[in-house]
Amino acid sequence: MLRQDSRSNNLLNNDTDTLAYVETTIAQKNIVFKFPKQLEERFIYKRAKDSQAFIHTGRYLLVLLFLTICLNVGLFFSDIVFYNNFEVVKSTYLPLAIAIAFIILSPRLEYIQRYFYHFMAPVSIFILYIIINLSIMYDGDYSDFVIYHLMTAISLMAFGLRFILPLFVTILFSAAFFSITYAHFNNLPIIYAKFSNYYIVYSLVVMALAAISEWHERIAFLQSLLLTHQTEELKKLNEELDQMAHEDALTGIANRRCFDEVSRKEWDRGLRDQQPLTLLLLDVDSFKKFNDFYGHGEGDNCLHNIGQALKASVMRTSDVVARYGGEEFVILLPNTKIGGGIKVAERVSSFVDGLAIKHEYSDAAAHVTISIGITSMTADHEHSITDMLKQADIALYQAKANGRHQYVVYSDITTSPTVSSLL
Ligand code: GH3
Ligand code: MG
Ligand code: MG
Repeated sequence: MLRQDSRSNNLLNNDTDTLAYVETTIAQKNIVFKFPKQLEERFIYKRAKDSQAFIHTGRYLLVLLFLTICLNVGLFFSDIVFYNNFEVVKSTYLPLAIAIAFIILSPRLEYIQRYFYHFMAPVSIFILYIIINLSIMYDGDYSDFVIYHLMTAISLMAFGLRFILPLFVTILFSAAFFSITYAHFNNLPIIYAKFSNYYIVYSLVVMALAAISEWHERIAFLQSLLLTHQTEELKKLNEELDQMAHEDALTGIANRRCFDEVSRKEWDRGLRDQQPLTLLLLDVDSFKKFNDFYGHGEGDNCLHNIGQALKASVMRTSDVVARYGGEEFVILLPNTKIGGGIKVAERVSSFVDGLAIKHEYSDAAAHVTISIGITSMTADHEHSITDMLKQADIALYQAKANGRHQYVVYSDITTSPTVSSLL
């Protein structure tokens, strides 16, 4: 019954049948006392946990209740206690004490916890059987005294141990059956009118109350499952939305919005730790002609492959590769000097060359190539990341003007205008 301890929180995930069942049951407030198998197991597991918590919290009260009953018996029915060498104590109150001790200790024993109701059902039958027998064996005041305790036991079983309805009915029925059988074979006189009045009537009242509370609890249980499921679905959707908002659909790398966010953060970090930032602006050479001659679809494929190649060409997790727009890409390298930027530019360019995408109409080579503008800066309060982008753009323009398929370092243009060629 309680074997599955490790269970996923969201039972309704990927199970449309169960989800539909839960939604209809809640919407129609159906009266249910048994769920489909998996739900029922989880419900019983939860009830057992609640019951164990109840036992744990009420353990001292339970002991006190039992001791008070024993004290009352000793005080007001001493003749029964002392009769025949403590016969009643040995055959009744001692076994009852053991059964109650077992119930109190059960939440501590892992094995019993797992098969909680497998243990609690026979123990409960045993307790009821003993008390019913007492009420049959004796008459007069003591019999009435015992009947009150029987009612207490039935109530505690229904609302403390919280058996589900069919099991509770079975327990009540079994205890009565065993007691009557015992009385029959030992020639004990059963006053059926009395027995029916206290046992059956009281059991029916408790059963009805327990049934109503169980039904409400079952609906609340389904509602909590649905809430967990809906919360998780919402979380997933949010994650997807977040990804969509930050990822470029065509290339699968970060988009412009993502780059703007991250680059601003990196600039602020650069302001704090005064480490250099290096930025590469990349543009596909003669891409308009590529589209014109090979078609827009091939152009899209080409951009996708270039995006992936760029992503693969950076080493550090802090490096940012994004599609800046159209056929332009940007790479931001935090904590990197210009020398590191040049190495990345060389690697990126050779990765794109390595793709060997045929481009017969290019002004730069027989395959698809890129031009790169590079700049490096240590963040200060007079500049911003936009200045770096402007500088990289100027360098990129220079690379195009120099014949494409190469990189240009911005500082080289501003100091001594020498250009490094990749060819
Ligand atoms: P240059 O070497 O000077 O960069 O020449 P270019 O032809 O690459 O430059 P230009 O900016 O004139 O052309 C860019 C072209 O990139 C225009 C457009 O057809 C193409 N392009 C931009 N975005 C996309 C896209 O998402 N998919 C495809 N297939 N083409 C795109
Ligand atoms: Mg362009
Ligand atoms: Mg271009």
